[in-house]
Amino acid sequence: MDCIFCKIANQQIPAKVAFENERVIAFHDLFPQAPTHVLVIPKTHYSTLNDVPASESALLGELVSTATGIAKELGLAENGYRVVMNCNQDGGQSVYHIHLHLLAGRQLAWPPG
Ligand code: AMP
Repeated sequence: MDCIFCKIANQQIPAKVAFENERVIAFHDLFPQAPTHVLVIPKTHYSTLNDVPASESALLGELVSTATGIAKELGLAENGYRVVMNCNQDGGQSVYHIHLHLLAGRQLAWPPG
């Protein structure tokens, strides 16, 4: 499958990996929108959040717990951070393999643009 995030998960293309286990991998965004910008993805390919079955809710939970673990490890938890998942065009999704953004290191605007 021609999916850039599957290729990162399979180590076919390089990424700066922050965390990895059998189910998920986290790596630094190539075009960071904040001083810390990490993407957490499942190794299983789902194009959008709409494609994730309810039976995979634990996997979605693991994306969040991976992000919070990284935030704590990097000393970002106390000041705070944002986790975001974009879905389809109106959500601003550009890579069609689900991913959770972990953004931290500056005051983030709300609401987002
Ligand atoms: P989204 O717009 O929510 O689909 O987010 C996709 C993110 O993937 C963007 O923040 C991109 O900067 C990031 N991105 C695209 N290609 C790569 C790559 N090869 N390595 C790391 N991050 C990437």
